[in-house]
Amino acid sequence: MKNIGFIGVGTMGFPMALNLIKNGHSLSFYDPFANNKTIEVLIEAGAKQEKTIADLCKTKDFLISMLPIGEDVKEVALGEGGIINQDNTDLIYIDMSTILPADSIDVSKQLQTKNIQMFDAPVARLVNEAIEGTLLIMVGGSLQDFPKIEEILKCMGSDVVYCGTIGSGSKMKIINNYMSIVSNIVTAETLSLVHKSGIDQKLAIELMSTTAAGKGHMNFSYPKKVLINDIGPGFKNVLALKDLRLAIEHAESEGIELTSGKSVLNIYERAMDTKYKDLDWTAMFNFVKESNNLD
Ligand code: NAD
Repeated sequence: MKNIGFIGVGTMGFPMALNLIKNGHSLSFYDPFANNKTIEVLIEAGAKQEKTIADLCKTKDFLISMLPIGEDVKEVALGEGGIINQDNTDLIYIDMSTILPADSIDVSKQLQTKNIQMFDAPVARLVNEAIEGTLLIMVGGSLQDFPKIEEILKCMGSDVVYCGTIGSGSKMKIINNYMSIVSNIVTAETLSLVHKSGIDQKLAIELMSTTAAGKGHMNFSYPKKVLINDIGPGFKNVLALKDLRLAIEHAESEGIELTSGKSVLNIYERAMDTKYKDLDWTAMFNFVKESNNLD
């Protein structure tokens, strides 16, 4: 059994804290804005409510925070009454909020001046998985000390993955979210066009589940081409650009605005003045890397 202090018992933090208690850990929590029902359930489950971070830090082995934004994390970690200014420095701090990697790194550096070790461990998946203890948890921090926190993270997540040094959990999380958030709009625009074009949605989804559209380039086209250094055509970029223009023109005739399609149009157009024009469409990975001065 570990002594854990939990900061921020909102939508995600509340069920995560409950799962730590269910797994036999002793838990105190601090959240000045928590609702009464949450407080009641946590206390009934055996948790102790603390009114200050100072009280929360006393005799704890671990502190966990699950807060909305980076400013909240900085406040609880580095603020006047924050973790950095408490007597108990013999604890490990795990921030599980989704924040800017640079903030995770900065907070960790400042805590290190007081010998407080920090991990960033943001989560993927939603509240149901938080309730079931089946979150995906992406961890950044010391590899050597990762085993010290793995067991308590496994009370909250079914997949606990070490991603690298401090900040790497936050980096992996926001990179993952970038792709899923952008493709959410591509998906929404695509299905709107399916609808307006009079194509059966079920049929379209089934059909597109067999192509790069539905399987995803990372799983489908890239592994067979650019990721094994084969960028010969294949499906040439000049033809991909032609098809993108066809889709945009068709959508316009149907009264559908393909905002995401139009936003990448100019990337394909720029490639037309280069060798990439007649190379495989997966070679756009190399084109984008070159445009960003990457090898
Ligand atoms: P939330 O707003 O429901 O909960 C945050 C809690 O933090 C609240 O109870 C609030 O009172 C408390 N809080 C705010 N400032 C505080 C402070 N200074 N001291 C102590 N407590 C404070 O947010 P959430 O949905 O639980 O999200 C938490 C984090 O997890 C966010 O970074 C979010 O992006 C991320 N996340 C959320 C989901 C989701 O589905 N909700 C999924 C994955 C990741």
